[in-house]
Amino acid sequence: MVIVLYTMLESIHTDRDEQKKLKEQWINQRLDSLEDSIQDLDKEIKYARQKQNEKLTSTQQSKLLFENLTEKTVSQLTDNKTQTILFKSNNSNNQCIWRTSSPMNTTFDTRQLYDSLPFDNPDGGVWIQGFDIQYNASQWTSNNKLKIILMPHSHCDPGWLATYEQYFFHVVRPIINVMLGKLSENSKYKFVWAEMSFLSLWWNHAKNDQRELLKKFLNNKQLEIVTGGWVMNDEANTHYFSMLDQLIEGHQFIENTFGNITVQSSWANDPFGYSPTMAYLLQGSGIHYMAIQRIHYHIKKALAKTKQLEFLWQQTWDRTVSTRIFTHILPFYGYDIPHTCGPDPKICCQFDFRRGVNSFTGCSWGINPVFINDSNTHERAELLLDQYRKKAQLYRTNVLFIPLGDDFRYRLKYEAKLQFDNYDKLFTYMNQRTDWNVQIQYGTLSDYFEQILQEKSLTEFPSYAGDFFTYADRADNYWSGYYTSRAFFKRMNRIAESYLRATEILFSLAHAQVLEGKIVSYFPKDDLFTKLIIARQNLGIFQHHDGITGTARDHVVDDFGQKYCKK
Ligand SMILES: [Zn+2]
Repeated sequence: MVIVLYTMLESIHTDRDEQKKLKEQWINQRLDSLEDSIQDLDKEIKYARQKQNEKLTSTQQSKLLFENLTEKTVSQLTDNKTQTILFKSNNSNNQCIWRTSSPMNTTFDTRQLYDSLPFDNPDGGVWIQGFDIQYNASQWTSNNKLKIILMPHSHCDPGWLATYEQYFFHVVRPIINVMLGKLSENSKYKFVWAEMSFLSLWWNHAKNDQRELLKKFLNNKQLEIVTGGWVMNDEANTHYFSMLDQLIEGHQFIENTFGNITVQSSWANDPFGYSPTMAYLLQGSGIHYMAIQRIHYHIKKALAKTKQLEFLWQQTWDRTVSTRIFTHILPFYGYDIPHTCGPDPKICCQFDFRRGVNSFTGCSWGINPVFINDSNTHERAELLLDQYRKKAQLYRTNVLFIPLGDDFRYRLKYEAKLQFDNYDKLFTYMNQRTDWNVQIQYGTLSDYFEQILQEKSLTEFPSYAGDFFTYADRADNYWSGYYTSRAFFKRMNRIAESYLRATEILFSLAHAQVLEGKIVSYFPKDDLFTKLIIARQNLGIFQHHDGITGTARDHVVDDFGQKYCKK
């Protein structure tokens, strides 16, 4: 800014001597200022060195803190001043206070976890990345049942191995149609949908009776829109503007199409790490709950051990509690059925009934599913309930969340029938066994969170600040290459984003001028606005976690690029 002002000044000045004098004066001022800064920095370095000597003690303190967190609640920890270590800058103006730990009103900062964990990766048994889970069945009684919410879902990438349109016409449209049919069969069946890019395309191609059916299931809460973004966006490479823009685009579609639907919960099962910025935007958009999956396996294990997989996610800069959003972390390796019923994938896979058909992939753990019949119901239900009970040990309430789905599931009527028919039999048997003290039902993500809050209030959960990067799913397989891969497309995305933002601003200014009657000539508002929407949607789809990340196949990435460069 100073240089610009100076250049302006220089350009209008005619006296060369005066000009030279001014320039020398300015340079001298800058040199004085730089000298002051160097002196300040020198003081900072000396102070930092002094602090470094105390660092070991500080790290040990963090470790001790985490180990002691097990049973502590937020309110108990609010007074624990040892969590926050304030580092007062030695700057001459004494105005900056640098925070090196979590805000005083959170349980801890995720950085403290990273500092305190050994990352030693020992073999955890059937749950390789975890530990052996034991439980006492008497913890559940007739008045205190284990309440299980099973959430059917289908993870649909708007571009990955195939393009957005290829997926839509061959896979996604059939999925939505099949599930509408399934929900019509039984009012207890539930389903969730995340990607508005697909739902809007489905809507455009749907007949009126299909549209009415979808509206009906949204209104009676058999179908829930989760997150409601245009895509399930990546959270590492995306600029906050694009994160927000694609979220607005999705929510605008919901608002314009369904009107009375409010998005309550966010479902982000596949992005490769999670940013507090996204949590902040979700919370700011009125969403109360969120579920996430891909965080470092060692962090999961540590949080699972201390029953801290459910927490209030708070911004690092938040000194109040205004940014908190209730967050659930799935505990195991994946979001597929083998990794969501309990700790043992060899057993859970036997309850992914699609894998019991030869035309589909079987279980890689050696035992394929057997369908439920009168003679095996007891044994199968008991085996599955054991996994549910073990999983329940990792959480603080008696409400248990079990996602039931995988990538591009429920495409065929036959497949949906297999899953629902078999689970219906298991549900009926489990619910009839009063001595098992279990209540199992289909539910949406919000159904689960609402049940949770009937058992405990939000203040009974821990709260964290910080982020969940860098993600590793096994051993030392860190998912960091995608931060920089396909740099051309990442750069082009930023350029397109800046053009879009500039165009939006210009459009708004021009429109305001038209409204005030200052521009009398023809202004094609509707035409231009439609073009803006198309640009937002095309840029929005690239924010998908296989778009800007670069994890899609070459022809899909090219397709993304073609879309957002389209005039
Ligand atoms: Zn995905």
